[in-house]
Amino acid sequence: CAKDKGENRYEMYTIEMEKEFISRLTIEQELRRALKDNNLYLHYQPKIDIKTGEMLGVEALLRWNHPDFGFIPPDRFIPIAENVGLIIPLGEWVIRTACKQNKKWQDQEYAPFVMSVNLSTLQFKQENLVEMIADALREADLEACWLEIEITESVLINYDREIIKKLNALKAMGIYISIDDFGTGYSSFNHLKNLPIDVVKIDRSFVSGLPNTNDEAIVSAIISMAHALQLKVLAEGVETEHQWDFLRQEGCHEGQGYLFSKPIAADEFEEMLRNKKKEHRSDI
Ligand code: C2E
Ligand code: MG
Ligand code: MG
Ligand code: MG
Repeated sequence: CAKDKGENRYEMYTIEMEKEFISRLTIEQELRRALKDNNLYLHYQPKIDIKTGEMLGVEALLRWNHPDFGFIPPDRFIPIAENVGLIIPLGEWVIRTACKQNKKWQDQEYAPFVMSVNLSTLQFKQENLVEMIADALREADLEACWLEIEITESVLINYDREIIKKLNALKAMGIYISIDDFGTGYSSFNHLKNLPIDVVKIDRSFVSGLPNTNDEAIVSAIISMAHALQLKVLAEGVETEHQWDFLRQEGCHEGQGYLFSKPIAADEFEEMLRNKKKEHRSDI
């Protein structure tokens, strides 16, 4: 009868909710531990000049390999970290680690490149965000022009004064600012015009849809808009030659994706840098 069904449904919900609750709690505790025990690391994915194939920069992406649960993707644990406030120490660890790694590669005399890190919207609520980033650069002895931050459109939605102040301060230090996952949020042309944005990253969902007339139209429109506003434009998630060709024809500046390289561990990335240096030497 209806009543029984209702009760069953109630039971199901609580079990489901409890499962979700336990796993969230476990993730939270385990993440705290991982942070303390230094069990997190970064992977690096190159950003490529679409015309020349040259590497222009690299994005640092957070990785967590749990001893029992295995690899947990950032899309799973970052929202939890945001919910419980752990994103603040986590985000700080990412920035400090990325800056030190970039400096290390510069010291090894690989051609210098800009390294970007993803910043959660919640990190902009952090009172001392700008000071923390300045300190990370100082600690690593890295110039600000080799650091880029990737923010999503949600950072800009409310035109929050405090957030804009922080963005301007970071920009004034010489840090590059890009809008990640562009096209999926709500930022207006006004944001792009008035805020200190350097790069627009076209969301992977539009790029992976190529060739498809709707996605072609969207991607072309974003590229034209970026050109008109004198912003750099990068396509995320480029997986095929066809996508690459289309983006080149449309005048997209940079691309990132499995076609060129997946995000890879530091030692693997270093090997790639080493090989490139060798190639370059034999060119001369
Ligand atoms: P994102 O910043 O937009 O990063 C791009 C994601 O697309 C990465 O997933 C990358 O591995 C993946 N990707 C790159 N090229 C391709 C491709 O050709 N095909 C496909 N299918 N995927 C591709 P990942 O590393 O799992 O990260 C997912 C999201 O988690 C990131 O999206 C970012 O929003 C967040 N994230 C990662 N690391 C951090 C971090 O340190 N801090 C914060 N706040 N968020 C992070
Ligand atoms: Mg990103
Ligand atoms: Mg993205
Ligand atoms: Mg994303």
